Amino acid sequence: MLTRFWSMLKSFQIQDVFDIAIVAIMISAILIWFKDRASRFVLFGIGLLGLIYILARFFQLYLTTLVLQGFFAIFLFVIVVIFQEDFRRFFERLALLGSFKITLHEATPSNSSAEIIAHTADNLARRHIGALMVIAGNDPLDRHLTGGVKLDGLLSEQLLESIFDPHSKGHDGAVVIRENRIEQFGCHLPLTENIHPTRNFGLRHTAALGLSERCDAICVVVSEERGTVSLARSEKLITIKNAAELRNILEDFSARNAPAKPHRTFIYWLKEHPREKILALVFAFILWLSFGYQRDSVRRDFTVPIEYVNLAADSVLEGSKSTDAMVALTGPSQAFQLLNPEKLKISINLENIKQGRQEIKLTGEMITLPAGLSVSSIKPEHITISVSRFVVVEVPVEADVSPPPAGWTVHQITVNPSSARILVPEKMRSRRFHIKTETVSLLPTAESQIYKVNLIVPSDVRMEAGKTPEATVVVKLSKKTRISLQHPRKPFTEVSGNAAF
Ligand code: ATP
Ligand code: MG
Repeated sequence: MLTRFWSMLKSFQIQDVFDIAIVAIMISAILIWFKDRASRFVLFGIGLLGLIYILARFFQLYLTTLVLQGFFAIFLFVIVVIFQEDFRRFFERLALLGSFKITLHEATPSNSSAEIIAHTADNLARRHIGALMVIAGNDPLDRHLTGGVKLDGLLSEQLLESIFDPHSKGHDGAVVIRENRIEQFGCHLPLTENIHPTRNFGLRHTAALGLSERCDAICVVVSEERGTVSLARSEKLITIKNAAELRNILEDFSARNAPAKPHRTFIYWLKEHPREKILALVFAFILWLSFGYQRDSVRRDFTVPIEYVNLAADSVLEGSKSTDAMVALTGPSQAFQLLNPEKLKISINLENIKQGRQEIKLTGEMITLPAGLSVSSIKPEHITISVSRFVVVEVPVEADVSPPPAGWTVHQITVNPSSARILVPEKMRSRRFHIKTETVSLLPTAESQIYKVNLIVPSDVRMEAGKTPEATVVVKLSKKTRISLQHPRKPFTEVSGNAAF
């Protein structure tokens, strides 16, 4: 096992670095995405199963691999159902990446906004006035909000307090704050279903948590009952101790959501989430070891049928011809997985073949193979074929008639057509051919018996194109005289024409 591992490492190439880096980036993106989410435990479970599967493949544990493969088909559906909200967010962000909305984003981190929000929340809490403030992040919010009154007013303590004044009409619901503006108020947020029953929260807190599960916005909740300030973010609800703590969190949040500043260099980016990135790198390397590694070349032998194609219509292959050959293929074992040995064949193109006996070299080009595989040898290397042209010959047709019933004698047999034009290989043109009909069984009657029968074509010859190999046989029987009764009964085959008896 160690030697195998060592030989893999020795053949490590520059493209493998890219291969592993790309997969590591994708894995780290997933890990960072799920870092603070409640669903990360499901992801952890799936990851663990994936790891077992990879190890099972690497150590060639046949049964474990088979069982897990079956599971993965079901997992695919489960994953889509569990993570549907994450998929939606992911594609929303992807769509936003290309839009101007992000590039035209105001670069000022609204520190004063943080101050205003923190101070107002503190004030309201002291006076036991309930409030819910949504601070928008980068994800779109509209999909999650219902109701609400558009405002688009400059953020100020006075405005916030007026909105949440219990006597005001619009105090119910949440305000949405983006940078230093209040976009709307009186909004209804989606409720969470994951709230712990013992925490004894009402609708305001449930709604704040609900929104934090669906997007990257944070919600500041001021409790009317308890006079406390809480913050819902990434599916978590925490209690805030004082206004300074809230201000710090909000300032940090607005700094993170501001567009990348020049000092956010590649190094800065590398230093972010180091644990997830190292884990992703290790995981990508394990994946490469078990799936990506492809340089182990193997050789396999196959018995492959030979197919002769594009032979001209007036030509024929004579004598016994080779029907298969032994082909040795080489390539990485993964490439053999794409090969269907049943479909392998050596295809010999006889389009421009000359007449007569000749040798044909079997080459790799005569075999269609999946990418990565090549032909290392074919046995035999040569085969001999003999090509001959057909010529048209007119031959007589013979009616094959069974012996007449007892007491009857054949009076007359007529066959139509009496001769047929057949194609015979040029070499055999001097041979005497005759074509028989199928055997006709006769009835004991004096009336003419008419039979439509097929002609039996010998294997070396062909009927001329377009002619159906069929003939009509007309037989007349007559009652035997005493003398003819003594004749021995023998099978009766009569030559064409109006042979009379
Ligand atoms: P508090 O500690 O302030 O009492 P709570 O979590 O116990 O908060 P409730 O007592 O149920 O919550 O508060 C009800 C208020 O919550 C409503 O008057 C309304 O302003 C607000 N609210 C209820 N549902 C929603 C919602 N879906 N979205 C936004 N706000 C809501
Ligand atoms: Mg309440």
